[in-house]
Amino acid sequence: MIYDIVILGSGPAGCTAAIYAARAGFKPLVLEGMQPGGQLTQTTDIENFPGFEHGINGYDLVVTMRQQAERFGAIFEMDECTGADFSGEIKKLETMVNGTIETRAVILATGASARWLGLESEKQLMGHGVSACATCDGAFFKDKVVAVNGGGDTACEDALFLAKLCEKVYLIHRRDALRASKVMADRVSSNPKIEIVWNATVVEVLDPTAGEVSAIRIKDTLDASERLLPVSALFVAIGHSPNTKFLAGAVDLDEHGYILTDGVRTSAKGVFAAGDAQDPAYKQAIIAAGSGAVAALEAERYLLH
Ligand code: NDP
Repeated sequence: MIYDIVILGSGPAGCTAAIYAARAGFKPLVLEGMQPGGQLTQTTDIENFPGFEHGINGYDLVVTMRQQAERFGAIFEMDECTGADFSGEIKKLETMVNGTIETRAVILATGASARWLGLESEKQLMGHGVSACATCDGAFFKDKVVAVNGGGDTACEDALFLAKLCEKVYLIHRRDALRASKVMADRVSSNPKIEIVWNATVVEVLDPTAGEVSAIRIKDTLDASERLLPVSALFVAIGHSPNTKFLAGAVDLDEHGYILTDGVRTSAKGVFAAGDAQDPAYKQAIIAAGSGAVAALEAERYLLH
């Protein structure tokens, strides 16, 4: 069978593309990827997605988008693409579950994944007190002292979420000003349970030999002094990398791995990209959704002409 449109990814970009492609009568196949629903499933309340005056839970938002796409005939499959050949008119996708899938058009909406510090001790204690998802793992550290590393909106959101559960939250940031939006930065600064540790980086997580986190070693970026901070968990929130490794050689990527696009068009004819995988700048759910709609409209135009 040759599909008309296959969409890789099921976050706001993939789901919105699926709604548009399905409503246009194409019965798109959506491969959900490693993290069905994408990063929204790991956030708490989304307060800036239009249409929800009092905010909406990220998981609920993306589940509703998926149901909306299914109502118009989109098919969702728990599968992941591992390789692609876009050289011919019929595009070939290598997948973990369904083998080779053939399609006339592809929408790449594979999003991005959390970045890690790259420490050996971080790797050893991952899942044992080291996490990149406060909403998933925060409850394990109720009434404990924890740390969040990062200075963006994700780090602030994580710190605020953890402050509701934990005794105390250290927010460790490598500079002396937060990157986060003003509203988030103000909330963090005024929360009595959050202490911001400025100009510091995490250089070690202790104690891998004990199999759980008991402290982190932080280094002052100004005078290089080091000290131990006793904590039960470290939440790493230092940004994201695009999920595009499997696309190397199939479409043009920039030096950080983001898909290079002209609008939503990639370097391969009939292959379109939407959402965080092609957006190094904004990374917002509403923008991902908007680009998903554009990608589906462009794919429709490509197939009809
Ligand atoms: P960002 O890239 O915005 O921030 C990453 C943070 O981590 C920066 O403060 C950066 O420091 C720091 N950092 C990066 N690498 C390292 C490192 N190796 N060691 C220590 N610190 C490091 O990522 P976010 O995930 O926070 O946000 C991504 C996007 O998603 C943004 O556009 C954000 O606005 C959006 N977002 C929106 C939310 C909302 O509206 N509710 C919630 C969450 C995210 P430095 O500042 O020095 O570069």
